[in-house]
Amino acid sequence: MNILVANLGSTSFKFRLFRFGGAGAVTLLAKGGYERVTDYGQAIDDCLAELRAGGHVQSSADLHGVGFKTVLGRNLTGCVRADARVIAALDGFKEIAPAHNPPYALGIQRFQEKLPGVPLVALFETAFYQWVPEAATRYAVPQAWHEAGVRRYGFHGASHKFVAERSAELLGRADIAERVRQLYQNGPVPLAAGARPLRVISCHLGGSSSITGMRDGIAIGTSMGLSPQSGLPQNNRVGDLDSAAVPFVMKTLGLSLAEVERQMTKESGLLGLSGVGNDLRDVRAAAQQGNARAQLALDVFVQSARHWIGAFLLELGGCDALVFTAGIGENNPDLRAAICANLGDLGLQLDAAKNSALRGAEGEISAAGSRTRVFVIPANEELVVARETLRCISAR
Ligand code: ADP
Repeated sequence: MNILVANLGSTSFKFRLFRFGGAGAVTLLAKGGYERVTDYGQAIDDCLAELRAGGHVQSSADLHGVGFKTVLGRNLTGCVRADARVIAALDGFKEIAPAHNPPYALGIQRFQEKLPGVPLVALFETAFYQWVPEAATRYAVPQAWHEAGVRRYGFHGASHKFVAERSAELLGRADIAERVRQLYQNGPVPLAAGARPLRVISCHLGGSSSITGMRDGIAIGTSMGLSPQSGLPQNNRVGDLDSAAVPFVMKTLGLSLAEVERQMTKESGLLGLSGVGNDLRDVRAAAQQGNARAQLALDVFVQSARHWIGAFLLELGGCDALVFTAGIGENNPDLRAAICANLGDLGLQLDAAKNSALRGAEGEISAAGSRTRVFVIPANEELVVARETLRCISAR
């Protein structure tokens, strides 16, 4: 079975083709992508031509499904067929996810036209949070706002789900790994009587960052709320901000709402704090050369990560494993060390040598006696989308 995963950005189209064999074997057959895309129909044609040339897919008949990592749908989540209902749901929340929803809605429509008969599947980034307790999803807003959709949704669901599954495997909990694998088909099935609980905090730190607490493989809460620009400071997006700041700067700096929105989504986060750039490598290099704003940006990022880890540590009543994933989490031992500093009394201690040696690969970085084990697990969101796509089309 060949499953194509399409990653649609506002001006980019990236793809990965997976082949699923017997007994769960999966191979990445091809990957590629295009920048500065203005016509998704053309990009799809180019992608299929590349796959044909590579000898992987002769025609759309050799393609058994296409998966999309859609972000936020109005009144819709989970892993579902990417049909008119999905397009309407994306459209219904395009104001909240303006960089993500319109390209996915358009891209899915082009795939429908170009590949009639090939099943299309949407895995929403919010899907992993379907079982978060209601109290952790609510803002204290008037009921009408809540009914209009103003609540905490949570994002990076594919990434945190992968961490839930993989960390359970690394901790020898095949029961929980299986529970997570089947989550979107079976819901949160009860654990066997007497099974020990498993508490994991997953830190997806990248261009966009979020931290999720998970009990027995299922999210109990996350740092991102209504939109993917909340929670930790993002690369150039603001993260958490007191709502009073928006009317204040509109009145005192004379900014229009559109300009405030632009600055919050393009000129804030690590870029806004540091004045250097939105890539952590540049911020860190500047900090090492003595740039105080760059150092402050790193400190704010670390402080915010610790704030959310602390929140879930308390909510979970402890933590069996802390996991770092994504570009920053996988490649920056110094940041991991800063985030884990002074937690010995809470039972978490890094092995400094293991931590500094590990970049871009899976491994354990906690000290031998650490009650909370600490892992790096490289992000693998496309694989999650491919697997869920296959499960969704096979279930019918
Ligand atoms: P996205 O959210 O765009 O998928 P990534 O997960 O690729 O982002 O993370 C991008 C961030 O990770 C950037 O801030 C970058 O500085 C950091 N990063 C990526 N690779 C490295 C590396 N080899 N060393 C240090 N930082 C890295």
